[in-house]
This record gives sequence, C-alpha cells and structure tokens, in this order.
Amino acid sequence: MRKAVLTQPFRQFTMRTIQDLIKPKVRKLAPYTLTPHRTRIKLNQNENPFDMPESVKTEVLHRLAEREWSRYPDFIPVQLQETLARFAGWRADGVLVGNGSNELIQNLLMVMVAEGTPVVLSEPTFTVYRLMVETLGGEVVNIPPRADLSYDLAAIGEAACRTNAAAVILCSPNNPTGVTVSEADVRRLLAEFDGLVVVDEAYYEFCGQNFVRLLAEFPRLVVLRTFSKAMAMAGLRVGYLLGAPELVIEVNKAKLPYNLNFFSMAAATVAVEQYETALKPLVELLIAERHRLETAFQELPGFRLVPSAANFMLVEALRHTPKEVFESLLAESILIRDVSRYPLLERYFRFNVGTPAENDAFLAGLRLLSER
Ligand code: PMP
Repeated sequence: MRKAVLTQPFRQFTMRTIQDLIKPKVRKLAPYTLTPHRTRIKLNQNENPFDMPESVKTEVLHRLAEREWSRYPDFIPVQLQETLARFAGWRADGVLVGNGSNELIQNLLMVMVAEGTPVVLSEPTFTVYRLMVETLGGEVVNIPPRADLSYDLAAIGEAACRTNAAAVILCSPNNPTGVTVSEADVRRLLAEFDGLVVVDEAYYEFCGQNFVRLLAEFPRLVVLRTFSKAMAMAGLRVGYLLGAPELVIEVNKAKLPYNLNFFSMAAATVAVEQYETALKPLVELLIAERHRLETAFQELPGFRLVPSAANFMLVEALRHTPKEVFESLLAESILIRDVSRYPLLERYFRFNVGTPAENDAFLAGLRLLSER
C-alpha cells in the first residue's frame, strides 16, 4: 500500500489582483504618452527639423560595415567616453553614456531614491523626472516658478535644505518653458545645499550657456545631455552624464550592460567629429529662426510668446483654447504640443522651431486662426 503524501496547503485565501501588486504611487501615476499623428510638419517633440547631414551618415555606415555585427559592443564604451570628454571639456572617467538621457535620469535616480526620498523639482518641467522619482517611491517637492516662469532659486534652495532632499533637478533651458537658470543661482545652490544639483542641458546648444566648467569646483553637480535635439539623432537614442568620477561609478551600477548599441555609438562619435562643420551651422540657423519667429509673433494678435533660450517656444493663446489651436493646425497637417495639462500652463501650447519653410507654414496657420 502506498502512503498518501500529505502536502502543506499553500493556496492564499484572498487572491490579490494585478493592481494590488503594483506600488500605490505607481498606480496613481499618469503614463508618459504621446499620440502618434503623422503630419506634413512636425513641431511637437523639439527635434532637429534638419535630418543628420549626409556626410555623417555616410561615415557611420562605412564604420558599421567594417564592424563584426556578431560581437557585443564594448563593455565600457571607452572611445566614445573619451570623445565626449574632449567635446564637453570634462574628464573621461566622469562621463557615463546612456540610451538617451532618459535612461541616465532613471539610473541616477535609481541609485539615490528610496521610499520617501525627497527630490526638488520646479514644475512645469520635463515630466520624466516626476515619473521616475515617484516610480522609485520618492517624494517630489515641487517649487513652482515665479509669475514670469523663471526659477525661484531662493525658494528651491530653502525647500531643498528644509527637506534634506537628495537632489534638485533643474532643466536649463527648461522644457517646456524655455527659461534658463543663472550661473550665480547654480553656484549658490551648490554652496549652500549639500545634495546633488542636476542640470539637464538637453537644449544647451541653443542657449550659449552651460555648466560644465563648474564640475571641477563642485563634485555634487551633475550635467545631463542628449544627442536627440541639436545633434539630430533622436532616432538613435544617445545621452550622456557628466559628473564626479565617484558618482559615475555608483550610477553605472544601475545601468544595464550593453545599454548602447554600436550603431548609436558610432553615430555619436562621428556626429561629434563633424559637429563644427555639419551640425553647428544648423544649430545657428535654428537660433536665427527662433529670433525671426519672436519678431513675427509681435505682429500676431491673440498669441503671447514666452521668450525662449531653446529650440522650442511656449505660447499663451489669448483668444482660443490650446486644444483649438492644436486642432486648427492639425487640419493644416502641422503638429504642435498642447501643454495645457502641465501645471500653470492651462492656456499654453508649445512648438519647436522648424525649417524656415515649416516656420512660414506654422505662422500662416496661426494667422488664419487669429483672423477667425
Ligand atoms: N531632458 C529633457 C529636458 C528633454 O526634453 C528630453 C526629451 N524630450 C530628454 C531629457 C530625453 O531625451 P533623450 O531622447 O536623450 O532620452
């Protein structure tokens, strides 16, 4: 006779739903989404409207053809780190390369933010910061900007010190407002607050200002950059972090191995090599177009343009809702960003500077609307 095998019952008596398994803070979050519209003119993602110049593409394809695709990329992308270090004016062991700067924002926050960790932001700003802080269980301490949308550095510093925040994240120029933070303000924050000060320089090429030269003086400063905007490489996903080597060692622990493929690495290397000849003239043209648009808006009733140091601008719609502006332009196959759901921006939309012809079409679309 076989003995009956008695097993311990392990069935749970109350069955949890999938929702029960998700952290409450994550359940409450709205995802970062973007409706995919296909339009003739696309001014909604702050991309470079000029494609990557042919000379860069040809050289990248040549380098790819010579490389064995069956092999992993370098474990540590030393060559790209060195290229970026020279380009930015910082040390190579203080450079971390990411699959877009989004990934580096995530990695940086992963090694700092635990349940309840305060992080200071000034919203409206890039929404991924809050999304990541809250996903990791941290607490966003939000210090709204002044009425003109400029950073309120005194209030930011006060809140950072009072809450003993792990970090303050400043975006300069800020997405979506286009405002910059002054060097005096960043210096003061670094001198008086003992957490990290992260400056996201995703759009620095358009504003003539950057904070890299403060890195040697302040090891708690972190600078984030991307190849997705001025560098015309949003499709290839490359970003980089500049910081103290001892910080880079820690952030690197949160990064997945081989996060960057060798196509993107080669493209970033060649883009830097050819920046002065191939890309900088396009950046200069976009800045000139930004000035032209500023002038044109003075003649456009019903819209108030917020001065911007980036390749995009915020506009207050005085006679229509942002949704009406969005839809009216969409009917002309022009895509902009309705940012009315951002805090303080109920009446605003954002557009990025396009090619001269695209900007003409955009202005014509707005003129049509203002006559209606
Ligand atoms: N920072 C800011 C301020 C941005 O606006 C963006 C993209 N919209 C990013 C970071 C992310 O860029 P990437 O494509 O490098 O992930």
